[in-house]
Amino acid sequence: MRKTVSILGSTGSIGKQALNVITDLSDRFNLFGLAAGANIEVLKEQIIKHKPEVVSVRDEKSVLALKKEFPKLEILFGGDGLEQIAGNRQNNIVLIAVSGTAGLYPTIAAINNNIDVALANKETLVSAGSLVMNLAKEKNINIIPVDSEHSAIYQCISNKDKNFIKKLIITGSGGPFRTKTLKDMQYATVEQALAHPRWSMGSKITIDSATLMNKGLEVIEAHWLFNIDYKDINVVIHPQSIIHSAVEFLDGSVIAQMGIPSMHIPIQYALTYPQRCKGLESETLNLTQVSRLDFEDPDLNKFPCLKLAYQAGQSGQTYPTVLNALNEIAVNEFLNNQIKLTDIPRIVEEGLNKHNSVSATDLNDIITADKWGRGFAQSLIRK
Ligand code: NDP
Ligand code: MG
Repeated sequence: MRKTVSILGSTGSIGKQALNVITDLSDRFNLFGLAAGANIEVLKEQIIKHKPEVVSVRDEKSVLALKKEFPKLEILFGGDGLEQIAGNRQNNIVLIAVSGTAGLYPTIAAINNNIDVALANKETLVSAGSLVMNLAKEKNINIIPVDSEHSAIYQCISNKDKNFIKKLIITGSGGPFRTKTLKDMQYATVEQALAHPRWSMGSKITIDSATLMNKGLEVIEAHWLFNIDYKDINVVIHPQSIIHSAVEFLDGSVIAQMGIPSMHIPIQYALTYPQRCKGLESETLNLTQVSRLDFEDPDLNKFPCLKLAYQAGQSGQTYPTVLNALNEIAVNEFLNNQIKLTDIPRIVEEGLNKHNSVSATDLNDIITADKWGRGFAQSLIRK
């Protein structure tokens, strides 16, 4: 059966790779909607090439610019536009690949309309994991992870294995500062922090990878996706990025998923799930060429963000929501050269210490906590 798919965040790193996948598998997919932020030039090219039925952009002024060139196309905007595309029942599956908390509402809209979600946007589960997973369970909707580590774990677990998991092993390359000192990190430029050794990604996640907050967000994401206690989720640094994560079972057996570091593979897996078909990459994993795989523990003194994420996750309630909000503002300010890279964990820690948490099962409480975190980070930076 052909699947109808929409891609939110089509002009980003994941979104562009998803369009490569569905173009390559054009006998399997129809495209329904595309949503972008401000990169109208790339969106225009995508409209011409992929002919979506509807598009959405962040601001109303971009609608006018697009209308001139595509008078017959349905063009939406803002948060409503994202939700309308995600929740349209023509979709069989929606890829949520916008960055940041903007992914939350469209994810909820898709689930409420009984549409499967291919979830790249980890911030959604960090911020509102309990609410989103409960809703998906209630509606019997698949949330299929796109994040490579979670895709790896998803691929390692078959349904009958779920009750026999002992722990999850989440791998990470260690980012550009793995072999550098804390002092190097204090003086790091935006350019140095954006120079990821293995993956080419959007700027927010690349900075998160440099501070290891990305691994912290992934630990929280894994907790919600796989319903595993934080004490049973381990992070291991694996610089070659060949093992994308692993699962240890009660009997001591460990199953890992491997492959070349390419996001085309987990994106395709999420979109074709539960089937597999020929992939886009011509390169295959050659173990003798890789020759060795290294592993080390993360250095929590150099990368306090990972420790803070575990603490926020274990404290539960709205702590992860606030961690995510504080981090999003701090990363943005670092990218704008307003703060140092090492200010990011400082801002996150101060915010977590000041936060009065509440239960995170109600959307209004989550939004309030998210706003509080953003406001707190901004006031700290402007002080
Ligand atoms: P990018 O920054 O490359 O792309 C983000 C996309 O979201 C762009 O299309 C951007 O539009 C769009 N966007 C951002 N805000 C809005 C908004 N308010 N309304 C509509 N569109 C918006 O990010 P990535 O592709 O790297 O990452 C996307 C998500 O996937 C993140 O949550 C990230 O953590 C996750 N992820 C990414 C991985 C990767 O390899 N890149 C790996 C694992 C997870 P525009 O550019 O037009 O402004
Ligand atoms: Mg990842």
